Amino acid sequence: MTNFKPVCIATWRFPNASLKAGEMLAEGASALDAVEQGVMVEEADIRNTTVGRGGAPDREGNVTLDACIMAPSGNAGAVVYLKNNTHAVSVARKVMEETPHVILAGEGANQFARQHGFEKEDLLTKASEEAYKEWLKKKEYKPIINIENHDTIGMLCIDQKGDIAGACTSSGLSYKMNVRVGDSPIIGSGLYLDNEVGGAVATGMGEAILKSVGSFLIVELMRQGKSPQEACETAIMRIIKQNPNFKDFQAAFIAINKNGEIGSYCIQEGFSYMEYRAGENKNIPSKFYI
Ligand code: ASP
Repeated sequence: MTNFKPVCIATWRFPNASLKAGEMLAEGASALDAVEQGVMVEEADIRNTTVGRGGAPDREGNVTLDACIMAPSGNAGAVVYLKNNTHAVSVARKVMEETPHVILAGEGANQFARQHGFEKEDLLTKASEEAYKEWLKKKEYKPIINIENHDTIGMLCIDQKGDIAGACTSSGLSYKMNVRVGDSPIIGSGLYLDNEVGGAVATGMGEAILKSVGSFLIVELMRQGKSPQEACETAIMRIIKQNPNFKDFQAAFIAINKNGEIGSYCIQEGFSYMEYRAGENKNIPSKFYI
């Protein structure tokens, strides 16, 4: 594909996020700035109950966020169990840029955020609190496939120079166990990229994605010459093979290679992704297994 740059892809139907990132890229922003600011749009949107502020709490009523970011250099940062900041991706970027570490967790991540000027916020909105109180009546924990059709946002951008960056941010599974960590902040599972090859991001049942190390797998398959589509399909087929109960949950990957070719595959019908390219911001239904 010639002249495909810049381009942004993102999980689910989050048009405002891909628009933000896509317009920034068109104006010459770096892929790293574009993915950060793109996913921040969803983190701040309280109508979205699976990312950032307004995210559904764990079963004890805490809203805890997981996020990671990866730069074209291969550098990465992540936070897990971040409690009082909407923009988990920005705290993850600070971890990447200002510490010798990759992941900060729990109280340490909260303290680190405070030290870097992120003010303490309450992430539980009225609506999430009411939904949580309703949930407490039955306390039934089961994944809801394609919940509300918007979930974790994972984004990959290629900027005008051809560099690729990615970010992934989530409040994790609704009513998860306290201190449960999903795939979204784990480099290799929720997100992986190699600036010479391409990148991949995941959404869906974090436990299954973690066990597949799927984003890393997809990038390695692309390195070996598979198309992004073939690579996403292989990763999902591996999840299906590892999980006899695969019909009960959703898992999805999107990927892009350095030529701007895109792939997407998931278990269940209903997943889609955004693509912003040359001023056009499209939502594209993913291919699926079932
Ligand atoms: N992958 C996320 C997690 O397991 C949730 C999601 O994408 O729906 O935390």
